[in-house]
Amino acid sequence: MESSEKHSTAISDVGLPRAAVVGVLGGGQLGKMLATEAAKMGVRVKVLDPTPDCPASVVAEQMLGSFRDPDMIRQFAAGVDVLTVEIEHIDADALEAVQAELGVNVEPLPATLRIIQDKLLQKEHFAAAGVPVADFRGVASAVDADEAAADFGFPLMLKSRRLAYDGRGNAVVASADALTAAVEALGGYAHGLYAERWAPFTKELAVMVARARSGEVTAFPVVETLHVDSILLATEAPARIPAALRDRARGVAERAVACLDGAGVFGVEMFLLPDGRLLLNEVAPRPHNSGHYTIEACAASQYALHLRAVLGWPLGSPELAVGCSIMLNILGEADGEEGMVRAHEVMAHAYAVPGASVHWYGKREVAVQRKLGHVTIVAPDAATAHRRLAAVDARAGALLS
Ligand code: ATP
Ligand code: MG
Ligand code: MG
Repeated sequence: MESSEKHSTAISDVGLPRAAVVGVLGGGQLGKMLATEAAKMGVRVKVLDPTPDCPASVVAEQMLGSFRDPDMIRQFAAGVDVLTVEIEHIDADALEAVQAELGVNVEPLPATLRIIQDKLLQKEHFAAAGVPVADFRGVASAVDADEAAADFGFPLMLKSRRLAYDGRGNAVVASADALTAAVEALGGYAHGLYAERWAPFTKELAVMVARARSGEVTAFPVVETLHVDSILLATEAPARIPAALRDRARGVAERAVACLDGAGVFGVEMFLLPDGRLLLNEVAPRPHNSGHYTIEACAASQYALHLRAVLGWPLGSPELAVGCSIMLNILGEADGEEGMVRAHEVMAHAYAVPGASVHWYGKREVAVQRKLGHVTIVAPDAATAHRRLAAVDARAGALLS
């Protein structure tokens, strides 16, 4: 009784808009899951995406066009109350112009996207705020590259500053002989590169954090993430680490998100080192693959909290509502139709396994390593979740055991 009274007070305080329209730049699987959640909340979602019948178009109104084109962004923004993103690689100047000229609320703030979309700026920002990150330095010439190698040793992680995803802007440099070839492979010095000291992690962790317009932050449970060939394959919540370490990981994630501006959820990726230290890898200013599990496993999902945050509504609590949850990405195994064969087999198993939910993104083009869908498994305990995973996909079951 008391808690429901508190809830209704909070709602009337913020004044829920009657017919809010949230515009999302990008209409892939994240936009789709956002729009699905929005429908439950009585919120309309429009997406701007250049691919006809984009994944989100089954649940959202699509404007066909490029989110890289400032004129398209302006046209699109004119029809929404709040503008948000499912991808961080958007022209921040164009978003600032829309904010100033049309008075549209852009969340998170364009300044935040500007920091995050340049991984070197991002590292500098977090390091300056006292968030622990791997040692790094900009690499604009052969002299810089040699100095980075001398400082950090090998293997050395060389990264593109911009437009990186699924490990596609990264190169692991094994030795001094391989340095020049790695620079070339990433597009050369002019492309914008930086180097990171190798993090000999024992696990990778991720935490979704919601940030309200007021700056209040709230963290979802800590997941452990498994990347294969630099692409996320699976997550498990709760992470199989001591509770005190989980608290520390949430603390690092909250601290990172607290030093960014604007509302929304943020995906925070971290390395756990052998000595127990945590290093921030990177932050995504949007719902994130490592937070898909929240749809079935948490009291409220990352998509619900993203919408509540950008609309200025109360965030609420995202605690884990099940004993254990495992999310498995379904990736294309080849280009074209043959890349779907195994995906369909895994999905067919998933329909028959208790506690497994199937998400199929409906992408028209299939390519090797492209994300086609995912399966989320929930179970009362970790042993049951792992058994169910093995029943869905024996190969993934063996990798995650
Ligand atoms: P995402 O799809 O998560 O945006 P991305 O292309 O931005 O990926 P990163 O997150 O920088 O790439 O790196 C991808 C993966 O490469 C990491 O999850 C981790 O497994 C590995 N990795 C990245 N940086 C380092 C490092 N400094 N030391 C060791 N491994 C690293
Ligand atoms: Mg990234
Ligand atoms: Mg990453």
